[in-house]
Amino acid sequence: MKYLSTRDKSVRIGAAEAVKMGLSRDGGLLTPEAIPQIDEDFLKGLVGARYQERAAKVMGLYLTDYTEEELLAFAENAYGPEKFDTAAVAPVREVDKSTYCLELWHGPTSAFKDMALQMLPQLLSAALGKTGEDKTVCILVATSGDTGKAAMEGFADVPQTKIMVFYPKNGVSAVQEAQMVTQEGANVGVCAVVGNFDDAQSGVKRIFSDVEIRRTLLERGYILSSANSINWGRILPQVVYYISAYCDLLRGGAITMGEKVNFCVPTGNFGDILAAYYAKRMGLPVGKLICASNRNDVLTDFLRTGVYDRNRTFHTTMSPSMDILVSSNLERLLFDLSGENDTEVKGYMEKLGKEGRYEVSGAIKEALREQYWGGFCDEAGTAATIAEYQQKYGYLIDTHTAVAANVMEQYRHATGDKTLTVFVSTASPYKFCNHVLSAIGETPRGDGVELLDQLHEVSGVTVPRRLAALKGKVRRFDLTAEKTEMEQVVLDFLR
Ligand SMILES: *Cc1c(COP(=O)(O)O)cnc(C)c1O
Repeated sequence: MKYLSTRDKSVRIGAAEAVKMGLSRDGGLLTPEAIPQIDEDFLKGLVGARYQERAAKVMGLYLTDYTEEELLAFAENAYGPEKFDTAAVAPVREVDKSTYCLELWHGPTSAFKDMALQMLPQLLSAALGKTGEDKTVCILVATSGDTGKAAMEGFADVPQTKIMVFYPKNGVSAVQEAQMVTQEGANVGVCAVVGNFDDAQSGVKRIFSDVEIRRTLLERGYILSSANSINWGRILPQVVYYISAYCDLLRGGAITMGEKVNFCVPTGNFGDILAAYYAKRMGLPVGKLICASNRNDVLTDFLRTGVYDRNRTFHTTMSPSMDILVSSNLERLLFDLSGENDTEVKGYMEKLGKEGRYEVSGAIKEALREQYWGGFCDEAGTAATIAEYQQKYGYLIDTHTAVAANVMEQYRHATGDKTLTVFVSTASPYKFCNHVLSAIGETPRGDGVELLDQLHEVSGVTVPRRLAALKGKVRRFDLTAEKTEMEQVVLDFLR
């Protein structure tokens, strides 16, 4: 299987190379040349399998440069009991007969980013061997909280790699900051940037495109790469859990083979919901894909009108991992919906760069209407949904998950669709203690990791092991930089 650039189909490279590169040289996203098809027999074969086996089987359809034994070994490492606090890895929890929740936060950092970032380092590390790379790869990450920690946890002490994470000094939750500055591993670095997430992100982009720095680093034996969701190695592990969820619903008797289910996904960069789309395109019986946004509702408008317009106010919300105005992975969807028309996609992306806005063709609009439904939820709605789930179902959910639950209800109300719907839970409520406590009517006592205890007292829900352990951990990193100093930080890190 080869991978094409969404902006130039004549670019055709192997899976290992695609994972190593992250992004095509022309700025396009690397995308499989064909979408493998699965049938009922394939699904039947997975129903009795463990999550790790399901992952190896599904990923093997795309990663033809890797053997199935390799992929199974990676999956055992990524999703084993030292990493995940449940053997099911990504369990599906019943809320009521037609509503299920896919919990993706049982990994080491308590956010769904672990599902892919426990896998990507292994894919990348093997890709270095397969492509004969002798340099060390340095992953640079700008994070609004979840990605940085999950990436460090995945890359810690992986041979031939280093990782440097930049986060906005006052822009992450107390738990998120504690997670990052206590990270272990000899190859990791963390730096707070005075500024917001955009400042950190622009700094990282600047370093990536600085030929001078790249040359200096190459002389020192380093190449730069990215761990964010533009890398195919991050999308693919996410396709697995949609297929796995379907198998679990079959196994539990909630559905019969062939019956369609809807998925409702809290969305930021469009990676998670894109993975659901690929699962559907592979032949998984999926009805609607419901795209849930917070007050940053650029995708809601897009799905309703076909006009993507980033020229709008950026809102900081209690679901910060979805505070985003440019959803990079949409480009892969447009490539597929346009019939792999690279010229058309390139045109949209150029317009987005120049005017911050583009309008898709009539054909794409129609396909979007058929496959997707978009909605958004404001801050009050998010808090009310957390309270409602706690009272009605005794189910404590985080702020991002609450956005999905809220939009799912809006969808049902608007359409009357009775199809069984799975909404996706992307973080443990313990990552956002202050907002969750306030939502359920408690006054947060403090603003640091002590809130873990308070939330535990009032909810009775077990604190994830790694979060509970944060209290006794030593702070390893204390570096703060102005945004103009980020280049120097990287050069010092890669001596
Ligand atoms: C990253 C993230 C999201 C958004 O996922 P995308 O793939 O960027 O759409 C939602 N919730 C949480 C908790 C996240 O960390």
